[in-house]
Amino acid sequence: MHTVIPGPRSLELAARRAAAVPNGVGVTLPVFIERATAGILEDVDGNRFIDFGSGISVTNVGNSAPAVVEAVSAAAEAFTHTCFQVTPYEGYVAVCERLNDLAPGEHEKRSFLVNSGAEAVENAVKIARYVTGRSAVVAFDHGFHGRTLLTMSLTGKAMPYKRGFGPFAPEVYRMPYSDPFHGSGRLEEVIRSIETTVGAEAVACIVVEPIAGEGGFVVPEAGWLAGLAEWCKEAGALLVVDEIQSGMGRTGTWFACEQDEVVPDLMTTAKSLGGGLPIGAVTGRAEVMEMVHRGGLGGTFGGNPLACAAALAVFDIIESQGLLDRACHIGRVSMSRLSELVGRAPAVGDVRGRGAMIGVELVGPDRVPDADAAQRVAARCHQAGLLVLTAGTYSNVIRLLPPLVMPDELLDDGLDVLVDALGAAT
Ligand SMILES: *Cc1c(COP(=O)(O)O)cnc(C)c1O
Repeated sequence: MHTVIPGPRSLELAARRAAAVPNGVGVTLPVFIERATAGILEDVDGNRFIDFGSGISVTNVGNSAPAVVEAVSAAAEAFTHTCFQVTPYEGYVAVCERLNDLAPGEHEKRSFLVNSGAEAVENAVKIARYVTGRSAVVAFDHGFHGRTLLTMSLTGKAMPYKRGFGPFAPEVYRMPYSDPFHGSGRLEEVIRSIETTVGAEAVACIVVEPIAGEGGFVVPEAGWLAGLAEWCKEAGALLVVDEIQSGMGRTGTWFACEQDEVVPDLMTTAKSLGGGLPIGAVTGRAEVMEMVHRGGLGGTFGGNPLACAAALAVFDIIESQGLLDRACHIGRVSMSRLSELVGRAPAVGDVRGRGAMIGVELVGPDRVPDADAAQRVAARCHQAGLLVLTAGTYSNVIRLLPPLVMPDELLDDGLDVLVDALGAAT
């Protein structure tokens, strides 16, 4: 560290920010970034931070990955926009081909591209309602699906995402998510509750994250997601798996639900799909996706040519650099360091995750969530030069989302800081 955190230039910019940007747009660590690479963020005061956040799981391939920069620059030189629905271009089609190929299941698929995760989830629900002719959407506690009206309605956490922003979209029904650590959301109970309170014949789709991301990196019980998939099939509802945070190699497979042996009817991606450029996608069964009338899907910017070029580079980097294996490696190293703390550092209740998507849940006696402890741990990490993010319905989880290209030394240094902070803060 060159300066105290935040340093003088960041403080100057923070003052300008406060006068220009509303407070409702929150900030985790108020240092202004000047440049970033594969696992290091450098601020305007010359302070360097190890990046365990990846811009919320967006830069899985590293920040400004050279192949992404090159592809985007070349695309920008060629053309910046046509609108795919006005005059199409190859990059868009190529991204859809890759997604169709990689998404779970051997059936024929189709994809289309949008600008964000929320927009992908909105469209998945649109399609599910259209195709089933039903309106009810089942979502879960701990779920996060975005900040637009529908996706905010699907989201399970009032503060800060929903409070004061109602009325919410109708026909959203919330069920408990499987949470083994707290013993909630057993499959039979969830299904019984859907059948009795909503009615199987009313359900257009279930929208579910294979691992709850913003909700606290909650990994459901084995077989839970597969059970929901099975139920959907019997009920004639569609299963929408939201892979926006867990996808694109994060958990050691292209998509987390592969490890549950679940084949979604519709799958949403965004975040790391564009390697830092804004892009989202809906991928689904061809017979479902093809039902919607011409012109019913789309958007002005969806699948922007620069974002498509970035996404194609991201697919190549994950493959050529073996990043699925790297995700598993990062997971093993992190788990072995952090799981030692369970039972030793009193507040560390649970260390869990899959691949490089790992959460540390901080609790008091009787597993009561301890948000203050999580805040103290994060603050101590930040002061020591490690960017970590918190998560959780109770804001009591430290989440690890390092870029999958992070070198071992950086990972070790970051884990040293985190282990120290978890010890000190508890
Ligand atoms: C981030 C996220 C979204 C929303 O994506 P935006 O691009 O912020 O709209 C939706 N679902 C999940 C699981 C997410 O993590």
